[in-house]
Amino acid sequence: MAGGSGFLGSHLCAALVRSGQEVLCIDNHCTGCRENIRALLPLANFSYREQNVALPFSVDGKIDQIYNLACPASPATYGGKNAIFTTKTCVLGAIHLLDLAKVHGATILQASTSEVYGDPTVHPQSESYRGNVNCIGVRACYDEGKRCAESLFFDYHRSEGVDIRVVRIFNTYGPNMVMNDGRVVSNFICQALLGKDVTVFGDGAQTRSFCYVDDCIDCMRAAMASGPNFTGPVNCGNPVEISIGELARMVVAKTESPSRIVFCQLPADDPFRRCPDISLARQRLGWSPRISLKNGLDRTIAYFRAKLFPNRAGRVEP
Ligand code: UDP
Repeated sequence: MAGGSGFLGSHLCAALVRSGQEVLCIDNHCTGCRENIRALLPLANFSYREQNVALPFSVDGKIDQIYNLACPASPATYGGKNAIFTTKTCVLGAIHLLDLAKVHGATILQASTSEVYGDPTVHPQSESYRGNVNCIGVRACYDEGKRCAESLFFDYHRSEGVDIRVVRIFNTYGPNMVMNDGRVVSNFICQALLGKDVTVFGDGAQTRSFCYVDDCIDCMRAAMASGPNFTGPVNCGNPVEISIGELARMVVAKTESPSRIVFCQLPADDPFRRCPDISLARQRLGWSPRISLKNGLDRTIAYFRAKLFPNRAGRVEP
């Protein structure tokens, strides 16, 4: 598992370990953290290695499956001074892991992204939509990096016979999100719990569709378990669309927070609408999300409450 100590990777490692699989987690901790995998470290079927996937590496022993989740994934962490590193991680990381899959005859799954659709002009987005990406914009390092990784996956499949799966992950949230990496769900919850201003970027009319992490993990595992006739790409997300303004109101209400909702500048190239068409996942993987936003937010709020206020039952700070 590449990127195994990050938000999604740590949940996927835990699920695989729980089901008895032997897991090697590799990560360079650029955005992941050891805390996320601490409970797994003592287990006999889990091991960890610090490794930057953008550099060549090999693995001893037999590998049957590879999940590539290695990449910073929030706009605040993949862009700016990290932009070149992000593209290298996407592209060189994909090449190194595909080479590893080829050598081991392993099935390899790419955690791709709804960002391959850019700022979409078609709603909802199905896998056949080719996207609207600004290739010189501030998000391009991630969007184009992930698009290039997808093209590498299909080239290794066609030319080298590598067994691939490509899963396009839409906005996902839940425990183990990084508290301060700028993503909207973690930002709003932490701001509300701390009684700080809840920062809506733009007028809050832009939409996203939020998938709880457990559903996302189930989708990736279903894709990996599907036969070699199914390469994807397949969308993985929750098709319930909500505006960011509405999300802010929901979080403030759920946390019973005194926070004010304030409006700040919208970042460049922020997609206006995003919503997955998950017909393909339903048909080919028998998968659809099960956890509602209300339920998932409750679980995520409980997680951040425990993190922010470890020594008390958890309440809104004055
Ligand atoms: N956003 C916001 N306030 C924040 C963080 C994000 O209004 O404190 C907005 C952001 O502009 C975007 C949406 O929430 O429209 C989702 O942002 P996120 O970074 O979580 O994901 P992405 O833009 O990659 O979908």
